[in-house]
Amino acid sequence: MESWREILHNSINTPLELHHKLGCDINVLQDVIANFPMRINPYFFNLIEYPGDPIWKQCVPDLLELHDSVCIPDPLAEEDLSPIPNLVHKYPNRVLFLVSNQCAMYCRFCTRKRKVGTSRMHIDPASQKLAYRYLQEHPEVNDVLISGGDPLLLEDEQLDDILRNLRNIESVKLIRIGTRIPSVLPMRITERLTAIFKKYHPLYINTHFNHPRELTVEAKAACEMLANAGIPLGSQTVLLKGVNDNVETLKELMQGLLYMRVKPYYLFQSDLTYGVNHFRTTTQTGIQLMKNLYGHLSGMAIPTLALDAPGGKGKIPLTPQFIKSSDSQTLTFENYLGQLCQYPEPIEIY
Ligand SMILES: *Cc1c(COP(=O)(O)O)cnc(C)c1O
Ligand code: SF4
Repeated sequence: MESWREILHNSINTPLELHHKLGCDINVLQDVIANFPMRINPYFFNLIEYPGDPIWKQCVPDLLELHDSVCIPDPLAEEDLSPIPNLVHKYPNRVLFLVSNQCAMYCRFCTRKRKVGTSRMHIDPASQKLAYRYLQEHPEVNDVLISGGDPLLLEDEQLDDILRNLRNIESVKLIRIGTRIPSVLPMRITERLTAIFKKYHPLYINTHFNHPRELTVEAKAACEMLANAGIPLGSQTVLLKGVNDNVETLKELMQGLLYMRVKPYYLFQSDLTYGVNHFRTTTQTGIQLMKNLYGHLSGMAIPTLALDAPGGKGKIPLTPQFIKSSDSQTLTFENYLGQLCQYPEPIEIY
């Protein structure tokens, strides 16, 4: 069997290769790639079934990325919220720690499109040391999210090192890893890697699946290895126009994730990232889609639709409205079938 490194090494990353494989316009590809990197590894490439399908849209560069007059490079103000490079401290008790600038596939809708996969993202040991010191000096931070890029493109030893350094900080209680590896290069999950992870519980992994076609035998095996290592798995899915913005696709995805032992965590409204405008859906679309999931799927299969507020103001849940009216005596609401229901409030007796 090919190793994950070999598969990654055989990625398509030049316009000429992709032109040969898919017949895309070389000039368009060149223009887009000059701004945003491309990497399509053979595993993910083989999931493509037809031009413009939900897998294709996620990985094949599109001229629309350069025709974005609405969005901005860093809508979440991550750079402003970084007290030291690659450490985003937005919420009082948790930080985002970016440890890798590479991914196994560059998503065309990436929220960190401004730097992921380019020389604009520097990861160096010196700033990592500063990050550990910062965490030591900020004991209010008890939850560290390791992200990137994709942290799982680091070597096993590097990950071991990062996890050990974080675990040595007493105030850090929870460690989370954000990775798209289970959906884009599941062979990267090995027994050797999970043996390392096991040493650092409580460790959570939030992965990222966007379409039921990503739920392959290989992805299932990867998730099973992680779950068997005692790691609770979540999915942070992005709601994407033309990829998963319909009820049937979302139902199949969320249920399929549960069957693979992955709990749907967030469904993100697309950020206002420059180059991503063509993937955005309206907030009403998202809220209406969620309304069609509640009750029709187990609560276990339902993610929180969330919008990451521009300017780094935090994630806001976008929740469909079931409550029709409320007074001191009665709550009136509709159920998942649209039937009107009532719940009498408790009456205080003295
Ligand atoms: C999303 C995010 C978190 C984590 O949010 P949770 O709701 O705890 O998953 C932390 N820091 C930053 C900067 C984030 O964007
Ligand atoms: S895996 Fe995540 S960080 Fe990497 S390109 Fe995709 S969205 Fe961006």
